[in-house]
Amino acid sequence: MPELPEVETVRNTLKHLVVGEEIIDVDILYERIIKHPMVALFKKQIKGEQIQDVLRYGKYLIFKLTNGFLISHLRMEGKYFLKTNEPLEKHEHIIFHLKSGKTLRYHDVRKFGTMHLYLNLSYEELLKTEPLGKLGVEPFSSDLTLAYLKEKFKTRKQTIKQLLLDQEIIVGIGNIYANEILFMAKIHPQKLGKLLTDEEISKIIKYTKVVLEKAISLGGTTIRSYSSSGISGLFQNELLVHTKEKCPVCGRDLKNIKIGGRSTYYCENCQKE
Ligand SMILES: [Zn+2]
Repeated sequence: MPELPEVETVRNTLKHLVVGEEIIDVDILYERIIKHPMVALFKKQIKGEQIQDVLRYGKYLIFKLTNGFLISHLRMEGKYFLKTNEPLEKHEHIIFHLKSGKTLRYHDVRKFGTMHLYLNLSYEELLKTEPLGKLGVEPFSSDLTLAYLKEKFKTRKQTIKQLLLDQEIIVGIGNIYANEILFMAKIHPQKLGKLLTDEEISKIIKYTKVVLEKAISLGGTTIRSYSSSGISGLFQNELLVHTKEKCPVCGRDLKNIKIGGRSTYYCENCQKE
């Protein structure tokens, strides 16, 4: 699954390819990807819209259009390709025809991706609307503070590992990055979020930014099937604990357990309970 750094890489790539392009028509070959509005209205509304920018909120891509926004979530396997008149490929489900003669194609083997189109609302209103409305703060925003996390953690019964993955608290931290953040912050992944000290929460904020910034600068992580339009990330070469056997700090064997069904790597010696 693409996580925040991979989506940021896709955003950057797409931005250079499609900003300024006008959408003159769209073919929708798998209708369930379109979540808002109804398919017929979606087709009608998007015609004539120009792509002015490509933004990101958490793992959502947001195409800023002349009169609104197209929100796209890649979920497990979604990818975009910019083509001309090459024959259609099997998993290309949504085809945007652009005025330049090119086509922007949404390719999704698993078909779990989603698109929401909203016209005539501001960006602030968009952030309060489905599917963005319930999401927590962006890791790089000044809204991610000690006070904010203390408030969010104090009533929860989950471990810090689970809370870091909760998109209603912070958006865009996936499993790989949560393992790395907790290792750098020297916090045991099974510690309850509400028991963290101020110092520990501050370290989480610090290392969330450090880990995600580094991953973005390296184009994300390519593990198994995911790559963004042919670009492979390099962050997997920099992983400290995720999928590793030995602690890079003390040299002991790392533990690999499941927390909330997700594979969790940590060092018992460096991340004491
Ligand atoms: Zn260690």
